[in-house]
Amino acid sequence: MEFIDLKSQYFKYKKEIDESIFKVLGNADYILGEEVEQFEKEIAEYVGRKYAVACSDGTSALQLIYMAYNIGEGDAVFCPDMTFIASVEPACLLGATPVFCDIDGESYNISVDCLEKQIKKVISDGKLKPRAIVAVDFIGNPIDYHALKSIAEKYDLLLIEDAAQGIGAVYNGKKCGTLGDISATSFFPSKPLGCYGDGGAVFTDDENIYKLLKSIRVHGKGKTKYDNIHIGVNSRLDTIQAAILRVKLKYLGREIEKRQEIAKEYSSKLGEYVKVPVINHNNISAYAQYVIVLESMKQRNELMEYLKGKNIPTIQYYPNPLHKLPVFSNVNCYGETYECSSWYGECSLGIPFSAFLRSEDQQYIIKSIIEKIGK
Ligand SMILES: *Cc1c(COP(=O)(O)O)cnc(C)c1O
Repeated sequence: MEFIDLKSQYFKYKKEIDESIFKVLGNADYILGEEVEQFEKEIAEYVGRKYAVACSDGTSALQLIYMAYNIGEGDAVFCPDMTFIASVEPACLLGATPVFCDIDGESYNISVDCLEKQIKKVISDGKLKPRAIVAVDFIGNPIDYHALKSIAEKYDLLLIEDAAQGIGAVYNGKKCGTLGDISATSFFPSKPLGCYGDGGAVFTDDENIYKLLKSIRVHGKGKTKYDNIHIGVNSRLDTIQAAILRVKLKYLGREIEKRQEIAKEYSSKLGEYVKVPVINHNNISAYAQYVIVLESMKQRNELMEYLKGKNIPTIQYYPNPLHKLPVFSNVNCYGETYECSSWYGECSLGIPFSAFLRSEDQQYIIKSIIEKIGK
């Protein structure tokens, strides 16, 4: 059994994907070009943004954003304590300081109360300039856009949406990828929309920022490649990856529906034994993963072992909240104790999940979890 069944997905779309790849090979058009431009148009239309800039990976997408808004030395970037390091890592690389905020115990997204507390502490401390919030659609669950937008406006902060896990998810009728002043996503193979290597994109409605992002993506180019006007990077999306993504994007809507059915089955059968995801009724989660939360770290670890013995793969996303990572040991926590993110890191467990999870496998997983926890 696979944790995420990417093989079945490939074999389902194989004919179209292979044709697309071979078309790129035959055209010998390997860098940017028509496929990437078409993909940018299609994904921008899918999420509901004016512009998409495809780039080399999700971390790079975030870096392009931090660079375009000139975030660096002396700036504070507020981020959830429970996320992948890449949400804030590029800001740190550019010299900015991360300020970690606890998560909410139901949505597992950034806690709006803790965010405001941390902003106030940074302001009264007076050493850093609050610049941006990077909010994450964690495990595919959309951020609380209205609450975050009003905090961002109140304190004059840029709201960046890290939608690396959120493509296909919906908040009150608005798709993830549109829930920030600017948004980033990743096409890492295991994400809700994955390619066959690395890939990412930035979404914006601002024409000037769009132009700036396109320049920074290719060495700060001006009118031509050799007429550079900024210090940029090389962050192009491979043309072959764009060709693959164009095929997979066509089936994303159907896969998101399938993910709802599979998640619903898990939640209805497991809900009385473990904590299952809570999705606001106005929202649709992309279920980038399906994560259960156990009563204690001990119970979580015992369940992991038990399932391993039954050949059921599991993953912990992410055992260490950011404030506990060695690399961030000197970061000021402003007295925050991070109860929720620590609890989540200790007690959560991702179980096999994808649009291609076979029903008999799912029933076997459910039965095995109940066998262990139900006692
Ligand atoms: C995967 C991920 C990223 C980074 O994406 P890459 O394409 O792997 O660089 C950033 N943020 C979050 C929340 C992610 O899950």
